[in-house]
Amino acid sequence: MTTISRTENKRRAKPAPADPALYGTDPDRNCPLCPRLVSFREANRAREPEWFNAPVPSFGDPNSRLLIVGLAPGMQGANRTGRPFTGDYAGDLLYATLLEYGFAKGKYLARPDDGLKLVDCRIGNAVHCVPPQNKPLPVEINTCRQFLATKFETMPNLRAVMVLGRIAHDSTLKVLGLRAAEAPFTHGAVHRAGSLTLYDSYHCSRYNTNTGVLTPKMFRSVFAKIREDLG
Ligand code: SF4
Repeated sequence: MTTISRTENKRRAKPAPADPALYGTDPDRNCPLCPRLVSFREANRAREPEWFNAPVPSFGDPNSRLLIVGLAPGMQGANRTGRPFTGDYAGDLLYATLLEYGFAKGKYLARPDDGLKLVDCRIGNAVHCVPPQNKPLPVEINTCRQFLATKFETMPNLRAVMVLGRIAHDSTLKVLGLRAAEAPFTHGAVHRAGSLTLYDSYHCSRYNTNTGVLTPKMFRSVFAKIREDLG
């Protein structure tokens, strides 16, 4: 486990927060800040007019103690349905595990109107718009970080942050003003940063599970640790 002291953490510069008067805590449906992703969004709207096709807002109560940070909406998942991780394989594994560990209640039916509720848990993404080939550019990750930062700023009870994959990990470290060398990304790693604890996990994508990079057992082990720590 790596530990970054509260004093050292506070000493470092934090990124300028997004202006809630302009953007709220989630980006506007027509956020114009990433030209490539805006073009992709417009093409997707023309091709699939019934889909959500917009920056996907976070899901869950801001008063929660746990925040889960994913990479970006999946084309057939959150970009289609409008709810993080809803409608593709990654959501099947994530929501089943959240239900198992008491961070959700109800039934996950892969639809935003399935009535599923998160419990003491909020889910967001490092990048809010679907990127081509699921690969956001560094400039897009940097630009969208202001909206990730607002999630941290609007969660007064936040204690645990689970990051899914290296990009979410690195962007979260930047939100917190930490250097990557101090909290290297490894599946199952736990990093303490002031009052927060970061839990690293490989992303629960179909690719990672099909290739054995992440097994359901490995994924559950991270949630078991979070549940143990949060009580
Ligand atoms: S990725 Fe984020 S910053 Fe970029 S256009 Fe979408 S919502 Fe705006």
